[in-house]
Amino acid sequence: MQLQTELAEGTITSFAAGAVVAPARVLLVTEMDGRMVIVTDRTPFHPQSLTWPDQPGDRGTVTLADNRQTVVEDSREALLNRVTGMIFTGEDATAVKRNDPEINAVVLHLVQGSIEVSPGATVTLHVDADYRRALSLQHTGVHLAALVLNQAAAAFWTKKADDADSLGAPNLDKAAVAGSRITPEGSVDSYRIGKSLRKKGFDRDAFLADLPGRTAAIIATLRQMIDTPAPVLVAPGEGYLHDRRLWATRLNGTEVSMPCGGTHVENLSQIGGIMVELAASDEGFVMATTTLPAS
Ligand SMILES: [Zn+2]
Repeated sequence: MQLQTELAEGTITSFAAGAVVAPARVLLVTEMDGRMVIVTDRTPFHPQSLTWPDQPGDRGTVTLADNRQTVVEDSREALLNRVTGMIFTGEDATAVKRNDPEINAVVLHLVQGSIEVSPGATVTLHVDADYRRALSLQHTGVHLAALVLNQAAAAFWTKKADDADSLGAPNLDKAAVAGSRITPEGSVDSYRIGKSLRKKGFDRDAFLADLPGRTAAIIATLRQMIDTPAPVLVAPGEGYLHDRRLWATRLNGTEVSMPCGGTHVENLSQIGGIMVELAASDEGFVMATTTLPAS
């Protein structure tokens, strides 16, 4: 949908730095699809992305200066034309060109029920830290699994791949991932191995014939990989939602990074284990990842 507003700037976010609480100023109070929506100047909430909706939006609360409080059931990204003030959500947002300098991104806080609050009010935004922690753990786990998937699939490229990941393996994950769904319990990533990937030299049939062997190899490499603690960073930690962010850590001494708009653990030492299961699908294969917290 489209909504005319007076907004002139995107939302400043701090989720990438791990923030779960922040004061904010209310900029817009409106209704979308029958739900009350609050937009603030800044927020610690990680909203579900429009372009790559892998990680669900944060939940939490918004507290007013007089201590009245309401629940934020969900948070989602919307696009804002900062010149016209028009907000775009859902399918209307897909049609908007994101690289247009007039386009910013805003965080929509979807409120349960309703609360009396006006633009200009100062509020405190609290993210449900347990839910966030669970999603962050799974998100870091699935990044490691994707890098190890690339390694476990490296021998199945019959031509030199044109794109390598930060560990030097052909980037099958980037070339084939078609969708990703992260929940507090795990993640399911679907991969499409189509004509263009086969043309680039990926031996689909041989890879799919060895899924049990590949699964075992991935699990063994992941086990050894999380043995060495290293900080996990998403940078910049604070900035506009539409800014590009980079996830980075060190795996056995090697710096790795990839673009990411989600949230993550602070250190690999917080991961107790990562279980992976590969299964064939109509389009290619599916990788289910379950990351366990360190005890
Ligand atoms: Zn990510």
